[in-house]
Amino acid sequence: MTIHLHDTRQGRKVPFEPLHEGTVTMYLCGPTVYNYAHIGNARPAVVFDLLARILRRRFDLTFARNFTDVDDKINAASVETGKPIDEITAKYMTAYNHDMGALGVLPPDVEPRATQHIDDMVAMISALLERGYAYEAEGHVLFDVTSYADYGALSKRDVREMVAGSRVEVAPYKKSPQDFVLWKPSTPELPGWDSPWGRGRPGWHIECSAMAARHLGDTIDIHAGGQDLVFPHHENELAQSRCAHDGADFARYWVHNGFLSMDHEKMSKSLGNVILVHDLIKTIPGEVIRLALLGAHYRQPLDWSEETIRAAKRMLDRLYGAIRGIDVPEGIRDAAEAPEALVAALEDDINTPKAMAEFFALAKTLNKAVDAKEQQRLAATMLATGDLMGLLQSDPEEWFAGHVEGQLSSDDIEALIEKRDKARAAKDFATADSVRDQLTAAGIKIEDGAGGTTWRRSD
Ligand code: AMP
Ligand code: ZN
Repeated sequence: MTIHLHDTRQGRKVPFEPLHEGTVTMYLCGPTVYNYAHIGNARPAVVFDLLARILRRRFDLTFARNFTDVDDKINAASVETGKPIDEITAKYMTAYNHDMGALGVLPPDVEPRATQHIDDMVAMISALLERGYAYEAEGHVLFDVTSYADYGALSKRDVREMVAGSRVEVAPYKKSPQDFVLWKPSTPELPGWDSPWGRGRPGWHIECSAMAARHLGDTIDIHAGGQDLVFPHHENELAQSRCAHDGADFARYWVHNGFLSMDHEKMSKSLGNVILVHDLIKTIPGEVIRLALLGAHYRQPLDWSEETIRAAKRMLDRLYGAIRGIDVPEGIRDAAEAPEALVAALEDDINTPKAMAEFFALAKTLNKAVDAKEQQRLAATMLATGDLMGLLQSDPEEWFAGHVEGQLSSDDIEALIEKRDKARAAKDFATADSVRDQLTAAGIKIEDGAGGTTWRRSD
């Protein structure tokens, strides 16, 4: 069986074949680092971490996930907080890696930062100008979408229709409304770099094209990201990369994850309905969050609720319950591999619901096994499956004792209740409410009665 992936450009699931036999290159658009990642942002990180793990079984993979550390949203955050840009980006890059690490996301092979690739971007923009795909206007350099006949092929949009139907306010220096910025001028207060077009900074799209080319080559195998990036970000990356590289294809496969919503509304910073991973991992084990994110097929929408978390917790309890108390000798553990049917499900466009069904079937077989050797073999197979999927990484006894990193112990809960009581007594209701929210998120129900506050775990 070959690995199959749904390719956005072809609009269907296709067999995956890398450009060079045995090696694979994959690029995932990473975060813009001006605040903490929300659980929606974690979906691509977790899904493509799993894809990386699947690919590594067969191929020598180079996986790059960038940090966008120059962006107008970062500049705005700096003005708002009065903190230097470097301080903001450093803080949120560290937080991102910490938070994703808690979800079992392994570090990618390369984590390029936009600010460390300005020369590559300038070189690429120069190449585009030389070849007639870009033009200078009022200190800006813009990509001319009419110069590239295939513009719109990835997102299936017709550039002429887009231009005609465009209602956006068009900058006067643009030849067509869809032309996008490759380079823009910076005022003295803004971050900027010297360039042939004056002191300025890059547009967002060119960052990824330049970093992908630098670390993975002109043609990469897989380009991944959230569905919202298909247009304009990936369409623009594709256009400028091909034009700068004499028509060489940019990415052989485009893989996009569906959106995470809450109460059926997209989770996004602008709507203000975000749950930060940074907060969630204080009270919920990372594996629960990981499994909750992998519970739906990655292309499907995923509605996030307390029940999503509770269901994932129950599933992990079942898996940990099956291996609990079985001492697996190291030799058996090392020799074990994930079952073929489960791997086949993952290799079939990352079919995690099917893979999880196989995982439970395995747990069920183990629960029924009576022979000690058979139990060890099955438990080892479960652990190997866990290694592949980034699950079952805790000791089962610790899991059930609730000592898993991030999960609240009784002492933690009581300390939080005391903090809330004190806050209420001091009429600091903001703190009191935030502690209550933290407890609720951890599945702890509290009740205020005459004799004080009581609590119970809600599942
Ligand atoms: P951003 O920092 O907004 O550029 O987002 C970083 C990554 O998270 C991108 O790949 C987005 O497509 C993805 N993303 C943002 N919001 C969601 C969401 N609600 N559900 C799934 N993916 C998301
Ligand atoms: Zn990108």
